[in-house]
Amino acid sequence: MYKNILVPIAADHDPHTGAALNIARALADEGAKITALTVVEQMPGYILNQLPEGQMETTKAEVEAGLKADLGGVADVKAVVVEGHSARTILDYAEEQGIDCIVMASHRPDITDYFLGSTAARVVRHAKCAVHVMR
Ligand code: ADP
Repeated sequence: MYKNILVPIAADHDPHTGAALNIARALADEGAKITALTVVEQMPGYILNQLPEGQMETTKAEVEAGLKADLGGVADVKAVVVEGHSARTILDYAEEQGIDCIVMASHRPDITDYFLGSTAARVVRHAKCAVHVMR
């Protein structure tokens, strides 16, 4: 059904990872691209200035290693880590990369009061492509 699917995955070992990837695979056309994306929140300059040089790069590398471990070494999914603001960066990445479907969870499992979490709500509202929300 889709050729270029984005699966945003929160950095804190998102428990929806396996389920989201399975949905992405079910929605994927033959030969489709699937990308797992984690956004590392950008820090304000006054905090960045206090960090040792290269700390942000080290953090990104650690998050990427964690994401790859969560993916379980699968060959059909590309792992990408970028710095930014979660919803805005997911939306920008989707536009820049020509994503035709985003697959994501509605919110963290322990926060059941909300119909949609803050990241999911922004992505659903502003995405220019299809969004599959897991509930
Ligand atoms: P909550 O507000 O309850 O934490 P979110 O809307 O943030 O809910 O989370 C729902 C989904 O949004 C996650 O399962 C994931 O797909 C996506 N998401 C949230 N934060 C990030 C992030 N930093 N990077 C990539 N995806 C994220």
